[in-house]
Amino acid sequence: MPKALETILEIDLGALTHNFNYLKSKLQPETKFLAVVKAFAYGSDSVEVAKHFQTLDVDYFAVAYTKEGVALRDAGITTPILVLHPQSINFKTLIDRCLEPSLYSPHVLKEFIRVAELQSQTNYPVHIKFNTGLNRLGFWENDVDYIVSKLNLTNSIVVKSLFSHLAASEDADEKKFTKRQIDNFKTIAQEFESKIGYKPWLHICNTSGVINYPEAHLSMVRCGIGLYGFGNSAKEDQNLKPIASLKSIISQIHKIEPNETVGYNRAYTSKGYEKTATIPIGHADGINRIYGNEKGFVVINGKKASIIGNVCMDMIMVNITNIDCNEGDEVIIFDPKHKAADLAESAETISYEIITSVSQRVKRIFI
Ligand SMILES: *Cc1c(COP(=O)(O)O)cnc(C)c1O
Repeated sequence: MPKALETILEIDLGALTHNFNYLKSKLQPETKFLAVVKAFAYGSDSVEVAKHFQTLDVDYFAVAYTKEGVALRDAGITTPILVLHPQSINFKTLIDRCLEPSLYSPHVLKEFIRVAELQSQTNYPVHIKFNTGLNRLGFWENDVDYIVSKLNLTNSIVVKSLFSHLAASEDADEKKFTKRQIDNFKTIAQEFESKIGYKPWLHICNTSGVINYPEAHLSMVRCGIGLYGFGNSAKEDQNLKPIASLKSIISQIHKIEPNETVGYNRAYTSKGYEKTATIPIGHADGINRIYGNEKGFVVINGKKASIIGNVCMDMIMVNITNIDCNEGDEVIIFDPKHKAADLAESAETISYEIITSVSQRVKRIFI
């Protein structure tokens, strides 16, 4: 790898293939694979990542919002796309762009049927979401009769799948709760199938569900974080490769005297003769202020340099007093060796948050 000469996010498509193959190896051959590419494919690049997945054995994509699905269609992606959390204002666009909605409440079900009929659709594929304990989105078990009654009055839509989402699939202490969610979902699905007279696909597992609940893989699994290299446990992290490396460069080095302050609001005071480096990455790039004041760190020439003072919009200052380095040297914020999950932990957050925070201002490079 040539060293970074500006702030870049390097995305390793080979690692993406590795992670896909690893997760796929956990499945029965007939289980379908949905790749979750919401939020710019977890902060990387949804178009390049989706294009790469189209060369692999991926059956479905999911995004959170309609706009994200439109961006994929604009880029020529033809794989079916499930929109997990659409709003009714976008239903016409959603149909125009062959995106498939998650219908999660009486309101969105009624509204989607209305728009589908207005657009003269027959058997437009939809996915019905049930709440089994996350209490976020989804119909309740006792909504089945209502849904079936609505479906019986129209041929504008067809239920491609029923799904639910686990609340704590990564948490071994919540096995009982998770198994109850899975059982509830199976019961709902059985009732639904018997009342509607056909068998939609069923899916409930995210990445940790795939790893921890093989009995619940059902027709399809929905993987996000695992594809991007994190397994929500030290053991699984070993089997996966982070796809993204966030790198930057030392813009300037300062030698400061004892009791000088660094940055806005003079938040850091030097303890002695110290050396600081200024790095061109700030909270507008995804290094949130929570990483300031020595909670977060970067790696320069193999050594940790803590972020001192407040994170600025476009810069951070780090302490390099004990590091042999020069202006122009490469700075690692995270990479496969210095994991985003470890940096996240230092600021009491999680890998999901730090990787999805890398803003669109940061240049993406694909290897
Ligand atoms: C984001 C999301 C996923 C992916 O979860 P991971 O833990 O990243 O694998 C799956 N299903 C739904 C409904 C989601 O919102």
